[in-house]
Amino acid sequence: MDEVDDLPTVSCSRCGREWDLAFELDELRAGNQAVEQFALDHERHTGHFPDDVTPWVVDCRRCPDREGYLAERPARRWAATHARHTGHAVELTAPEDAGPTEIIEDPG
Ligand SMILES: [Zn+2]
Ligand SMILES: [Zn+2]
Repeated sequence: MDEVDDLPTVSCSRCGREWDLAFELDELRAGNQAVEQFALDHERHTGHFPDDVTPWVVDCRRCPDREGYLAERPARRWAATHARHTGHAVELTAPEDAGPTEIIEDPG
């Protein structure tokens, strides 16, 4: 048995699996961002976030582009730059109970 007492773990009920974050800590040197890094990678590869992760979601109303972020700033930045370059309105949804959906549009 390896010593894994200190490794953080993440579980995903949709995958029915649980992971320790040795890979994120060792290979990606994610440090205390390991959970965030895992969650973002999980979403990128599976299309959903693991348990206990509620992302900021930006969802373009005109094209299929949709991204999840674990912080408000990059989510807002994605929405603002998408609107700026495409002229599309983007829905920005905060993690649960943090407020209503906001529409980000190109200020022109
Ligand atoms: Zn999963
Ligand atoms: Zn768009």
